[in-house]
Amino acid sequence: DSMVADTTTTATCGYCSTGCGLRLHLRDGEAVGLTPETQYPVNLGMACPKGWEALRVLDSDERATTPLLRDANGKMQPIEWEAAFTTFVDKMRGVQEKHGQDSVAFLSTGQIPSEEMAFLGALARFGMGIRHGDGNTRQCMATAVTAYKESFGFDAPPFTYDDFEQSDCLIFIGANPCIGHPIMWERVLRNPNTPEIIVIDPRRTETAMAATQHLQVKPKHDLAILYAITKLLIDNGYVDRQFVEGHTNGFEELCEHVSQFDVDTVAHAAGVSVGSLEQVAHTIGTRKAVSLWWTMGVNQSYEGTRTAQAMINIALITGNIGRPGTGANSITGQCNAMGSRLWSGTTNLLGHHSFASEQDRQKVADVLGFDSECIPTTSSWRYDRIIEGVRNGEIKALWVIATNPAHSWIDQADVKELFGKLDFLVVQDMYDTTETAEHADLIFPTAGWGEKEGTFINSERRYGLLKKVRRAPGQALSDFQILRGIAHYWGVGEQFAEWTDPEAVFRIMQRASRGQPCDITGIDGYAHIDRCGGIQWPWTEADAAATGSSEPPQQRRLFEDGRFFYDDGKAKLIVDDITPMPEPPTQKYPVTLLTGRGTVSQWHTQTRTKQSPVLGMLYPQEAYVEINPVDADEWEIVHGDTVTIESRRGKIEANACVTATVRRGQAFIPMHYAETNQLTLSHFDPHSGQPSYKDCAVRITPK
Ligand code: SF4
Repeated sequence: DSMVADTTTTATCGYCSTGCGLRLHLRDGEAVGLTPETQYPVNLGMACPKGWEALRVLDSDERATTPLLRDANGKMQPIEWEAAFTTFVDKMRGVQEKHGQDSVAFLSTGQIPSEEMAFLGALARFGMGIRHGDGNTRQCMATAVTAYKESFGFDAPPFTYDDFEQSDCLIFIGANPCIGHPIMWERVLRNPNTPEIIVIDPRRTETAMAATQHLQVKPKHDLAILYAITKLLIDNGYVDRQFVEGHTNGFEELCEHVSQFDVDTVAHAAGVSVGSLEQVAHTIGTRKAVSLWWTMGVNQSYEGTRTAQAMINIALITGNIGRPGTGANSITGQCNAMGSRLWSGTTNLLGHHSFASEQDRQKVADVLGFDSECIPTTSSWRYDRIIEGVRNGEIKALWVIATNPAHSWIDQADVKELFGKLDFLVVQDMYDTTETAEHADLIFPTAGWGEKEGTFINSERRYGLLKKVRRAPGQALSDFQILRGIAHYWGVGEQFAEWTDPEAVFRIMQRASRGQPCDITGIDGYAHIDRCGGIQWPWTEADAAATGSSEPPQQRRLFEDGRFFYDDGKAKLIVDDITPMPEPPTQKYPVTLLTGRGTVSQWHTQTRTKQSPVLGMLYPQEAYVEINPVDADEWEIVHGDTVTIESRRGKIEANACVTATVRRGQAFIPMHYAETNQLTLSHFDPHSGQPSYKDCAVRITPK
């Protein structure tokens, strides 16, 4: 039987940042099936439906199998790779010559391995003179990055998944792990400490239903709520004075800032009781190991950075960091969001160095064997600025890699119109049917998860291995091979002679990490990562020498010695004023629209997950909107009706889901539907540039 496996191997899942290990059942080196890996320290034998279906989506008819070029009649025509590469080089160079070096930009992803990200960033910025490129991680983790950098002195999520089981009080803010990170939630369910579970979320999410305390705050009141809780912690003597003195700066400013917040007023405005805030403060103050967790409800907000820092402040002033079960912990979204943070080389120089520092530029140039002159002295424009550049004609050619902005970027109608303004759009993707691919002039077909090698870094800083267990269809190549081709045809093949394969680039990354908080010089290649069930950063040469032949411990957290990454070793407590909601509800648009993950079975814009019939059965194919029953009565809407949802930017239809998960005056639409971002308002967190997807004003009427 050709389906009977003769061996197995383990690889990290390529959807979410949990980074589960999947055991691939191989026949003659090709995967014929998979099961969750029981020995992997992340998922302990569990996987969500997306992971279970990871192979199925590779076999789709919608796979891109050959390069395609738009002809004079507007039709996409198959071409050979050589023609694809020369067209790419001619067009991109042509645009640069005509409109200036900076008129070409790229948008990449958190879905490809670190080695491909590092190669893309280095090739584009140091080889091709493309100064501007950013990733879809701007939509996902940028806020957490900025918050950590400013608070800790480095972008460093402190936790390890064991903390889900060690904590005796878990606080989830703007996070719905039941749906968004189901295996992490399973780890919470294994917690033996009868933990208090506090959820702060405008929706009564699946996680909120399982919580012991749910603060169903009105949208965008989380920052004020956190300041009010901080005030209560200070006023009630729940501060760990010794920790504050020894390990933080800014406590006096923090006290002064939060003293302005009247708890009654904040509670009333946020739609929660004073007693509920007091109870949260009391719980934090009296539990032994408190952990705070956040995802996109915080990150995707116009004041997301300060909200994340308000959580970090609470962990710091109560001494809930660096011990088992504690931490202010950002759960990342994509499988390699952290790879993008450390290795994309766009807004941070390789290994989270600084473009502005001459010393850093020289260090990285030496590591790469490049002339330091080729390293720009400034960061790339952020995603929103690149889009703005397309709008005002500064960007004329765009190269989009493994992401689907025509669906996912905020205010999608605007993005679609903008793509029409480009002289040349290149889309590099596994599928040539995405909303963005429809606008492309040139398509590069790529290998996907399971068809190439590299490393992903999960939410707890663990490097996990991606493995090649399938052949990519047709002429599709890995992003790595495509980058090799581009380097050659661009004429910089010599400069990148050392970048021969993913593991060679991993060695370069190790050298670039030396001396950084994310130092991985102690890892002995891919085989070592494979043997250990992944390795968390940092793992330095000194760590490796100190442990001799034994492997790194399987669960490691940061800041156990209370030292942060600023020169004085102290963390910063950062506070700010509250920003008013940019588009508050009005009489004409009386409803605040929330967006987010709607299911465990779909991923992002459904590019991959819609290819699985099984995943399709687990989720409605048509868009739906959650509406509160009292609102539905008033608007004469019955469950299942088709309704119209209209914002100042767009109008869509969806099926009404009448449910008390949302409060009156709010509605929720999952982000997986193409329609959702026709409604959203283009506005951003000023510190991180992350789009604020969850607070635009709409009106809902029966169709
Ligand atoms: Fe695990 Fe996330 Fe993959 Fe599901 S999608 S199997 S939770 S890594």
